Amino acid sequence: MENDSYIVIEGVHKNPNNIDTIDENTKKIHGPFDQKKANDFAKGLIQKNIDNFYHRAWVVKEGLKIDDICEECKKEDESVKQNLIMHSYKICNSCNLAKRIFPL
Ligand SMILES: [Zn+2]
Repeated sequence: MENDSYIVIEGVHKNPNNIDTIDENTKKIHGPFDQKKANDFAKGLIQKNIDNFYHRAWVVKEGLKIDDICEECKKEDESVKQNLIMHSYKICNSCNLAKRIFPL
């Protein structure tokens, strides 16, 4: 049983691959849900807005501050946010790579 809770953030973006470019006027936050429900909800939102290229929904772990600080090396890196969005894990690309090469 997964106890972590996740929120879904949807909105229109200047750059749909970058959560930082979300238009605050269109931003809506849903949840918290468990991870499966959050993913399903985000998928539903994306399907509903499939005609709008700039609309995106993100699944973010609740309580995690969205910043660029890697939890492994505590360094600031712009890859941290992208990894957080993709894997719900605050890690920079170099730590992520090190983890993949030397799995714990
Ligand atoms: Zn790191």
